[in-house]
Amino acid sequence: MQVPRGAFSCELMILRKEYGFEAAHFIYNHPGKCRNLHGHSYKLFVCLEGKVNPETGMIIDFDDLSKVVIEQVIKRLDHHFLNDLIPLSTAENISVWIWEQLKPELPELCQIEVFETTDNCVIYRGA
Ligand SMILES: [Zn+2]
Repeated sequence: MQVPRGAFSCELMILRKEYGFEAAHFIYNHPGKCRNLHGHSYKLFVCLEGKVNPETGMIIDFDDLSKVVIEQVIKRLDHHFLNDLIPLSTAENISVWIWEQLKPELPELCQIEVFETTDNCVIYRGA
């Protein structure tokens, strides 16, 4: 079969993959109920921006992305106490921590979205 080579190459695109983790935390300086120990089912969206490789037709293989995200982030946060890693574990600070774990291995990382609940989300695009 004739494969059209390069037909869709070099296009700049954003790829996004969704992950989830369950974790406990408390916000020690919060004036309300968030100062009490509680948990969330967090959602994490990881976005990479890059050119489509003309050979693979991909920016990155989703499986290769997941190897990094699961190893560097999900395994370390899922069913853990967030305050041990991120003392003031707001969604904002969790976003920065996740970015710092991923960026060295995923230079195309352009945005992460951390959902603490279905309607509360922080979007971070790096410093
Ligand atoms: Zn919370």
